[in-house]
Amino acid sequence: MKSRMSKPELVTEKKVVQTTIEKLRTVGKTIGLVPTMGALHEGHISLVKESLALCDVTVVTIFVNPLQFNDKNDLTGYPQDLEADTFLLSQLPVDYIFAPKPEQMYPVDYSISIDVGPMGRILEGRFRPGHFSGVATVLLKLFHLIPSNVVFLGTKDYQQLKVVEGVVKDSNLPIQVKGCPTIREEDGLAMSSRNKLLNSAERLQAKCVYQALQIAQIMVDAGECEIEKIIQKMRDHIQQADGKIDYVALVNPETLQPVKRITQNILALVAVRIGSIRLIDNNLIQLNTRRN
Ligand code: AMP
Repeated sequence: MKSRMSKPELVTEKKVVQTTIEKLRTVGKTIGLVPTMGALHEGHISLVKESLALCDVTVVTIFVNPLQFNDKNDLTGYPQDLEADTFLLSQLPVDYIFAPKPEQMYPVDYSISIDVGPMGRILEGRFRPGHFSGVATVLLKLFHLIPSNVVFLGTKDYQQLKVVEGVVKDSNLPIQVKGCPTIREEDGLAMSSRNKLLNSAERLQAKCVYQALQIAQIMVDAGECEIEKIIQKMRDHIQQADGKIDYVALVNPETLQPVKRITQNILALVAVRIGSIRLIDNNLIQLNTRRN
């Protein structure tokens, strides 16, 4: 058993991480992978703890993947602090941090990219063209570099989770994809590296995102059956807080296609811009508490 304060080993070279993890696999260790873009918060840490609980070895990757940013300003403004992240992870018995430079992941002669199909073009994909191709490409590369038993992803990025499940299944990778619950601030705002970029007024406005999701649950609990009415109330709430809506959707949690009637569990998804910061969130609406 490792001591709580043992430092994770920081690896930046892909060859090193690959040979190290391959060796551990050959001696029968199970490997848990937690891919992140850094600026770590309690949401990321919950994934790390899940991996520590389930796997012998935990690898956290920190890489701000340029391929998944369709907006260059979003990429240049993305918070990065490897020192703080390393410190946070050193409070836990994490084994390895893999933090490659972009040229490690994408050498100049690098050329492939993954098309994830129709799932990559709806919802987030509609507003961030190429985003899921970038996500799938970097993750597939990481899966090969770090042959893992389980990859831990947040349901906070629900569509990403579905896309990755599809990539793993369609490419026959022997990796279990584990979706972990969303960790929230006290007022319900989902933790996100982007929250750091909100000023204090915007931080207050941002509460509307989770509140909109709660409105959907409250309306369903009260017996509301009209999808359009629920969506409209959610939109009104966000707009009253001066949030700019990219989408508000009630979808089938498996296909992510819009639902027409309330006959099953439904996933409510929102993407909202507060000032220049884009926030996404989702919540599974439970039908068992319904009154009718
Ligand atoms: P990111 O660094 O934003 O790419 O996120 C890395 C992983 O952490 C992804 O699988 C996210 O879904 C997950 N994640 C981000 N925010 C949260 C949160 N608030 N709760 C749980 N998981 C999260």
